[in-house]
Amino acid sequence: MPFRGTGGLGDTEAMPIEAYAAHQPKSQLEPFRYDPGPLGPREVEVRVTHCGICHSDLAMIDNDWQISAYPLVPGHEVVGTVTAAGPEITHLKVGQRVGVGWQCGSCGECEFCESGQPALCAQQRATIVQHHGGWGSAVRTTGDFAIPIPDAIPSEFAGPLMCGGTTVFTPMMHYAVKPTARAAVVGIGGLGHMALQFLKAWGCDVTAISSTHSKEAEARKLGASDFLATKDEGALAGAANRFDFIISTVSADVDWNAYVNMLRPGGMLCIVGVPASDLRIGAMGLILFERQVAGGRTGSPQDIARMLDFAARHKVRPMIEKFPMADVNRAVAHLRSEKARYRVVLEA
Ligand SMILES: [Zn+2]
Ligand SMILES: [Zn+2]
Repeated sequence: MPFRGTGGLGDTEAMPIEAYAAHQPKSQLEPFRYDPGPLGPREVEVRVTHCGICHSDLAMIDNDWQISAYPLVPGHEVVGTVTAAGPEITHLKVGQRVGVGWQCGSCGECEFCESGQPALCAQQRATIVQHHGGWGSAVRTTGDFAIPIPDAIPSEFAGPLMCGGTTVFTPMMHYAVKPTARAAVVGIGGLGHMALQFLKAWGCDVTAISSTHSKEAEARKLGASDFLATKDEGALAGAANRFDFIISTVSADVDWNAYVNMLRPGGMLCIVGVPASDLRIGAMGLILFERQVAGGRTGSPQDIARMLDFAARHKVRPMIEKFPMADVNRAVAHLRSEKARYRVVLEA
């Protein structure tokens, strides 16, 4: 391990970070060494033990969103140990186990930052946008965005919770999904398999929706009491007015009106996957029954901390496949092949 632990709070000595970077869109990852510079007063450095691979990492490698800067070090489902903390950090100790997710900074001054919602800050900084992420020996973050991991959650499972887990859990909190709700999860993959577990533990009756029945047995084990296959003729139409909350994790373009029509009056369709095309939804289906369509994002540090606490108490765990960090290209290829069940985790 090229990176050594440092002395303690306030130690700002910089050591080079050995990472894996993409140097151009859609390229392989290559070893990449960088000097992170002096540690800022509110920053921490985290020695990486595990880092998940999220579909957003692939999108950033490929520059799908036109915001990538190269060399690009992906990795925003980071778990590791604090090895250095700036002098203004009081809530974390060197040696403490933490996770780092999508966000690594915010302005600290706007109304959203001041009201404890830095995930909504317009000046927020992301771990892998103009910043080097967790596929390497260490990562830097503003201390507020390094979240302590409960002891009950092993590090290999904590990574995928830091982005995928909070993406499906935060909307349940922010949109006040009731335990009495009938809920549906669209897409049983990296996000959906965690959404099934969270909604079940929340108390909801959960239906899994997937294209075919191939994942039915697994979905039921993860908490689904019912399963709809969209390729079955009439399956969605037969579920009209059934759900209070539908969370969509798919990146495919689907018939969104079919999903709106499955909502009960006042129900919500929450979009957390990113389809290629804009959503086309008829207004009357919303107007007549006061239905809502909303977006959900990864959440602020306190949302993530609550999610981790909930996951620890209810034993919500992602299903993972592990690869050594040095096999990062094989791990990426596996996720791209759509064969991963369900999250891929790199291990240092
Ligand atoms: Zn992610
Ligand atoms: Zn702000």
